[in-house]
Amino acid sequence: MTKPTTTNTGTPVQSDDESLTAGTQGPILLHDHYLIEKLAQFNRERVPERIVHAKGAGAYGELVVTNDVSRYTKAKLFQPGARTESLVRFSTVAGEQGSPDTWRDPRGFAVKFYTEDGNYDLVGNNTPVFFIKDPIKFPDFIRSQKRLPGNGLRDHNMQWDFWTLRPETAHQVTWLMGDRGIPKTYRHMNGYGSHTYQWVNEAGERFWVKYHFKTDQGVDYLTQADADRIAGENADFHRKDLWDSIERGDFPSWTLHVQVMPAADAEGYRFNPFDLTKVWSHKDYPLIEVGKWTLNRNPGNYFVDIEQAAFEPSNVVPGIGFSPDKMLLGRVFAYADAHRYRIGTNYAQLPPNLPRAAAVNSYSKEGAMRFAYNDATVPVYAPNSYGGPHADPAQAPDGGLWEFDPTMVRAGYVQHAEDGDFTQAGTLVREVLNDDQRERLVNNIVGHVLGGVQEPVLSRVFEYWTNVDPDLGKRVEEGVRAGLDAGSTPPPAQG
Ligand code: NDP
Repeated sequence: MTKPTTTNTGTPVQSDDESLTAGTQGPILLHDHYLIEKLAQFNRERVPERIVHAKGAGAYGELVVTNDVSRYTKAKLFQPGARTESLVRFSTVAGEQGSPDTWRDPRGFAVKFYTEDGNYDLVGNNTPVFFIKDPIKFPDFIRSQKRLPGNGLRDHNMQWDFWTLRPETAHQVTWLMGDRGIPKTYRHMNGYGSHTYQWVNEAGERFWVKYHFKTDQGVDYLTQADADRIAGENADFHRKDLWDSIERGDFPSWTLHVQVMPAADAEGYRFNPFDLTKVWSHKDYPLIEVGKWTLNRNPGNYFVDIEQAAFEPSNVVPGIGFSPDKMLLGRVFAYADAHRYRIGTNYAQLPPNLPRAAAVNSYSKEGAMRFAYNDATVPVYAPNSYGGPHADPAQAPDGGLWEFDPTMVRAGYVQHAEDGDFTQAGTLVREVLNDDQRERLVNNIVGHVLGGVQEPVLSRVFEYWTNVDPDLGKRVEEGVRAGLDAGSTPPPAQG
């Protein structure tokens, strides 16, 4: 017997083909409840797309710890030999759900670890830094990178207006305009936790830490010309590459490293170690290997596993905490709040978000779409006299501890010896990039600026790049002026 189509509640339906009508030409009848269910369900298939990171791809995998970092953290997932199931979602930032994967943009690199102490989420990017250092600037920043209110178009003038008025963006914009601004695939990019986190060991000693996932496939990029071509040929180029590679058993992997800074070093370090627009030099804090992270399973259903995946930096486990990084502290609020709005109050019960190695003993109850609940004998309040769970600080993450001056201020970060909006961007241009990479950087900037930047923003663009590096500023200005003289035609695509 064939398997019958049923309603959502399991009753076999009469037809997949014809609606119920009064005669062949009469009206459709309202009591064709299966037709109504089908159309109504279809109307509600979409949840709001993410305001940022709307377009993405993801997979399941595993972290295997290959080194001993227990002197820095007691977190169980980082103990020698530990294996932990994991989920990742890679994404672009500014584009919408259907936007091309190969647009120049930072990539999200959000990782969930299903640990026995609860889920641990690292909401990283493929860049070690970010555009801004204070969450109060975030909505302005994102609006400037998305669409104009009137015509709904993206606008380079608006992007550069924001960037040049906020010089702290210079390091990230330099990164973005370089080769790594368009990775070849999601497999060919590094991931960085970017924020500074805290680790605490069994003895209670505290360290500041930064995470680096170094791709075992090698870092590789697309030229602007190739990326533009691919954007027209296959908007899902990176999503397809990730899926195909896992399907054929070519499992991509990354080697997880950390930089570790003893808590006492922070005050005297040459850069403010909590400023998200700065890196810690490898020369000062070399990478320490932690383990191998491999992606080995495609999602069973894209919507269920990836679209509904909810990553939140508030998910920390014992041995790991936050830091005075203001962007991190802002995101600890913002992510969970976004999920409650986007996929509902009970988003943590959805399959990709549900802990897999830890029990949930929460007093949360009810709300829309609640389908998990405690046994009826468990009280719904705490404290209680009837055996319900009770908070135990000895088993909980402490969230990170640090000393601070309790005066309320709006004062930004304390400036350290070598801090400055342009310092590390200049180092990247002069000391990391080679001549070919610098040439492509200039061409990428010039092409982007010729995409509609006007005065007074244009003059600030030249000043911005001159502040990063005088020679770079000169070359950008020459390239843009030549392009404008030639009728704003963008320079030839770089090879
Ligand atoms: P290092 O010379 O030790 O590190 C330079 C790092 O730059 C490399 O290890 C690599 O990081 C990264 N890199 C290489 N090519 C590119 C590129 N085309 N675009 C962007 N990044 C690239 O020096 P420092 O650690 O003192 O850092 C110097 C500068 O390097 C920084 O100002 C920063 O701009 C950049 N950088 C530093 C990182 C850090 O965490 N210290 C990380 C990434 C960039 P990776 O090994 O991660 O691929």
